[in-house]
Amino acid sequence: MSLRSFLEILEEKKQLVHVKEEVSTKHEISSIMDAFQDGPALLFENVKSHSKVVGNVCGTRERILQALSVSAEQLYPNLRDAVLSPETPKVVDEGPVKEVVEPPRLSKIPVLTHFEKDAGPYITSGVVSAQSPDGKVENVSIHRLQVLNDKQLAIRLVPRHLYRLWTMAKEKGKDLDVAISIGVHPAVLLAAACSPPFGVSEFGIANRLLCGCLRLVRCEKVDAYAVAEAELVLEGKISVAKEVDEGPFVDITGTYDVQRSQPVVDVVSVMHRKDYVYQALLPGGSEHRILMGLPREAAIYDAVSNVVPNVKAVNLTPSGCGWLHAVISIEKQTDGDAKNALLAAFAGHPSLKHAVVVDSDIDVYNPEQVEWAVALRFQADEDLVVIPKTRGSTLDPSADQESGLTSKMGIDATRPLRVPKEKFEKAKIPKTGASEKIITKIRRELFE
Ligand code: MN
Repeated sequence: MSLRSFLEILEEKKQLVHVKEEVSTKHEISSIMDAFQDGPALLFENVKSHSKVVGNVCGTRERILQALSVSAEQLYPNLRDAVLSPETPKVVDEGPVKEVVEPPRLSKIPVLTHFEKDAGPYITSGVVSAQSPDGKVENVSIHRLQVLNDKQLAIRLVPRHLYRLWTMAKEKGKDLDVAISIGVHPAVLLAAACSPPFGVSEFGIANRLLCGCLRLVRCEKVDAYAVAEAELVLEGKISVAKEVDEGPFVDITGTYDVQRSQPVVDVVSVMHRKDYVYQALLPGGSEHRILMGLPREAAIYDAVSNVVPNVKAVNLTPSGCGWLHAVISIEKQTDGDAKNALLAAFAGHPSLKHAVVVDSDIDVYNPEQVEWAVALRFQADEDLVVIPKTRGSTLDPSADQESGLTSKMGIDATRPLRVPKEKFEKAKIPKTGASEKIITKIRRELFE
């Protein structure tokens, strides 16, 4: 199970467009990816003096479902099972990624410069895997990596699990060995975006999602494991002594994240398939929102399911950056259910800022229906929950810049049970066979 095998499926389904014109890694590829964010995947075959580049691979929810071979209903339970019962993948001696092993020359890799004011080229689909100094804990996560020169990257380390491993290495006075796998199956990207407790390897989650098919290889020059079927692997060491200015860089919100002092990664070796395809991922694009957002939707779904018997759907909306805004539909039993659902949602996804709970007749993916529910089923004096000064996303530019604190808002847009149901009924017009026929005929005339 590799990126390649998935691209073959996309090719068959005519969801892969081949771009034969010559394009540059600076702004050109990213602007084309931007124009087709939730469209087909794009294979750039003619990249100025570089290998091929593929983009927008997981640009739609449907493609994630396709990649995991699950239905929309099965997605969250599947993710939950994988997080709760990960399976350690097999380690093999040889894998396609070992076809070429060579010293690093990062300028040979078609790393994109995405936005106007980005600090430079950034690797955005790198799956970073590392182990604790005692080898007991492995962590796998995705980090933005700024290319500094032919042998060095800057890595953004948010204080989560990889940061913790890096701190452990720092205490021993030793750099942290990492493998950076690029060009992997969507399940590996999705697993790396999950947040299981520290100590659970996200490779185990990916392997479970892939029904036991994930294979790892031991790196040649560092103490870490990489994806055997990746297109490209960078072997490196996150320095515990060297830091540089990293950024500015566009993150999931589509705004520039500020420049910070961040650790340097010394790349010591590179391995890749002979004809490797470099995987690009547009920051703030549909694919970024889906990969980061889906595991959080599953977390919200689980948290809300604990307090409300029947949760129908969760959507981290595109306009809320796939991260800050959730719409949750429930089958309400009592009037307190929606507020409990709101509190659970904020607990399930700590970066969540605004949440709307609707009844199960509302389609959470349809913003017009959601607004309709807010217009007709919500009273601000009793259905609004405001939680001031809590911890939220560091990416929200309106949060307090010094403390990082933000206010959260929950909207209960479910119909109050004390008002007769009929009051909220959406009126329907009965259709006859004759009217249906005429409607179809007019439609045909209009669109032919
Ligand atoms: Mn982790």
